[in-house]
Amino acid sequence: MYTDRFAPSPTGELHLGHAFSALVCWRECQVAGGRFLLRIEDLDRGRSRPEFVDGITRDLAWLGIEWEQPVLFQSARLPAYRAALERLTGRGLTYPCTCSRRDIAEAVAAPQEGAQPSGPDGTVYPGTCRGRAHQPGEPAAIRLDMRRAIAALGGGDAVAALHFEELDAGPAGEMGEVCLDPQALIAGAGDVVLARRDGAPAYHLAVVVDDAWQGISHVTRGRDLFAATPIHRLLQALLGLATPRYRHHRLIRDAQAKRLAKRDRAHSLAQLRADGWQRGDVLRRLGLD
Ligand code: GLU
Repeated sequence: MYTDRFAPSPTGELHLGHAFSALVCWRECQVAGGRFLLRIEDLDRGRSRPEFVDGITRDLAWLGIEWEQPVLFQSARLPAYRAALERLTGRGLTYPCTCSRRDIAEAVAAPQEGAQPSGPDGTVYPGTCRGRAHQPGEPAAIRLDMRRAIAALGGGDAVAALHFEELDAGPAGEMGEVCLDPQALIAGAGDVVLARRDGAPAYHLAVVVDDAWQGISHVTRGRDLFAATPIHRLLQALLGLATPRYRHHRLIRDAQAKRLAKRDRAHSLAQLRADGWQRGDVLRRLGLD
């Protein structure tokens, strides 16, 4: 059955960009006669707040969106993420990493000049801890060893056979079948974090585990996450999980053509509502009327 989800992180107020994502997702579900799920991605314990969860439900209801109950909270799913991580670790595809942000910044700033590679999670990790002995008890993040992960799928050929279907368009106009490029994954994403140093599962792992568990057939999200999708596709293959179809929609920008950010309150739905905006004003502003 056609099933899609809106999966906000409750770390701030929703803005017009979230409204666009939720509305596009919900409308497609309506057209397909499918299910629309709300998933609260509250794994960042430091920044997630219950009042933002309340704000999310208030905003969605204001937009006329209805979602199934119960709502899935990722904080209730920790054992499932741990089990997935153990499967990858059991196959020798992960390693502990004790580097701080600063260590990574220093390592990549070292002798070579020029732009440092930046991937979906920011600076691409230079691999300092790969193959390094780890002291038991020393707090460590867990990273995916991208080269080994690709090799575990049978090398480049197997990865080239791994594709996902793009129903809208990627940043470079990618449409239809998008194939994974192993070299681009190694160079462009690198050894991504699967669990943080405080033990919290990272986004890439949790999203893949939950999309499969919730039977998500379609994922609608912003084009800013297009570069993360090959990582998700790879993790799905490693974990033997089904892959949804993806729709990476255009991003909503402000008058200066800048992407909207959570810290910028001017475009928050709560603020617009307080300013007297109605649902119809939101639809018009987003080109969805
Ligand atoms: N929680 C993510 C965010 O708020 C979205 C995840 C997704 O749609 O895959 O950006």
